[in-house]
Amino acid sequence: MPSYLFAQLAARMPAADRPFIETPTGRIITYGDLVAGTGRIAHALVARGVGPGDRVAVQVEKSPEAVMLYLACLRAGAVFLPLNTAYTLAELDYFLGDAEPALVVCDPKSRDGLVPVAERYGARVDTLDAAGKGSLMERAAGEAPDFADVERGADDLAAILYTSGTTGRSKGAMLSHDNLLSNALTLVDYWRFTSADVLLHALPIFHTHGLFVATNVILAAGASMLFLPRFDADEVMRLLPKATAMMGVPTFYVRLLQHEGLTREATRHMRLFVSGSAPLLADTHREWRERTGHAILERYGMTETNMNTSNPYEGDRVAGTVGFPLPGVTLRVVDPEGGQALPQGEIGMIEVKGPNVFKGYWRNPEKTKAEFRDDGFFITGDLGKVDERGYVHIVGRGKDLIITGGYNVYPKEVESEIDAMPGVVESAVFGVPHPDFGEGVTAAVVAEKGASVDAAAIVKALEGRLAKFKQPKHVFIVPELPRNTMGKVQKNVLRDTYKDLYAR
Ligand code: ATP
Ligand code: MG
Repeated sequence: MPSYLFAQLAARMPAADRPFIETPTGRIITYGDLVAGTGRIAHALVARGVGPGDRVAVQVEKSPEAVMLYLACLRAGAVFLPLNTAYTLAELDYFLGDAEPALVVCDPKSRDGLVPVAERYGARVDTLDAAGKGSLMERAAGEAPDFADVERGADDLAAILYTSGTTGRSKGAMLSHDNLLSNALTLVDYWRFTSADVLLHALPIFHTHGLFVATNVILAAGASMLFLPRFDADEVMRLLPKATAMMGVPTFYVRLLQHEGLTREATRHMRLFVSGSAPLLADTHREWRERTGHAILERYGMTETNMNTSNPYEGDRVAGTVGFPLPGVTLRVVDPEGGQALPQGEIGMIEVKGPNVFKGYWRNPEKTKAEFRDDGFFITGDLGKVDERGYVHIVGRGKDLIITGGYNVYPKEVESEIDAMPGVVESAVFGVPHPDFGEGVTAAVVAEKGASVDAAAIVKALEGRLAKFKQPKHVFIVPELPRNTMGKVQKNVLRDTYKDLYAR
């Protein structure tokens, strides 16, 4: 048997001359180039001593070669381990120490800094650039395009993907070949991808969204991608006429709404806009619909589980919900303490089970054990509910739940009230230590440019709208909310900034 995921994707590939990736400068990588290129790189990996099950850590800027390297790792039987390009050497020390890769692949500019760190953990270092002397691509260029794939089965590890580190230290999620394939095939079906699609791809490829949702779906559909090195509203607007679909994080949509070129006409040929990785504000959903006529399709997933839910392709895409569990995914809402299932409509911990769910945390069996129930359900850490029509609502992370004077406050409920106020762009509500109540409800608010938004007025306005225990006693007007590279609001940073608010 060949390498499961690659073999399954290869079986679905279109004719060799069909485009797989097109770059903004017009460079085209066909499916034929992809197969030959991954074969060459797989040879080069083996020649560098990469064996079955070895990790290949990759910290490179987005490029077609980086995608080929991912697939070449699968073919060589290795475990692909992408790393955020924003990570510093100190952070990389943790990841490389944890993962112990056989090989680290980086950009030329970071090579000198990385070598001593990689050597500490016994890893070799290669650069990816084709022009570089001794780079992995140069080695690959001297190899044959045909490669006999190293045998890997459905349950073998395909990748270790570190979580975004929004709530604490990133954890390595072990994803099998079948975890990735099953989710890609489900999404192709659910979102109606065909080989005629062209996906506008402006996401990073070190995260589940850009790599496994976007890239694997395109591969499984035999479709193509327009590959932007990074999100840029002008570039997206320029390239949009060539695309049929886009996947993005909510900030993409917010920024595009600020672009005057965004009209019905400019998006007329598009068939799908998908949003995920963070909550899409109902306002953004509404404004997008008014401006373009398209209802953004919001979905919910995580590094550990790939995609769990999606709004429907046909039927109502309801703002503020993440839609229905995907086919094959079982989702339940339970009491976070005891784990008993809750009646429909009640807020509790979201748990999921299905072929999409990962194999556990890398080298962390205790954490793996703690996050799975005995009946195989994975505890997502997200709080939510299922409404009477079956739509799943995410109300926030369990770790962000505020408990004040014994009452539960769901930050999202308070944020929605604040966000609806004139002159407010967005807000984040969080708890800080309080000597009497355990936690005090606190808000950070971003105001529109030029709008005079007054913190005291917000506190006052909320008095009539929310129960007393939910009302923030302190509101801070801030220029922006702290976000990580995936655009997620880092509430731990806010909690830390204001931790002494009630200190005595
Ligand atoms: P860490 O686990 O390291 O703290 P993280 O949870 O942000 O970081 P990811 O796996 O990238 O790492 O993100 C998954 C999380 O993103 C989900 O658990 C959920 O909280 C959030 N999320 C994803 N999609 C949505 C969505 N559509 N609406 C609300 N939240 C979402
Ligand atoms: Mg998480």
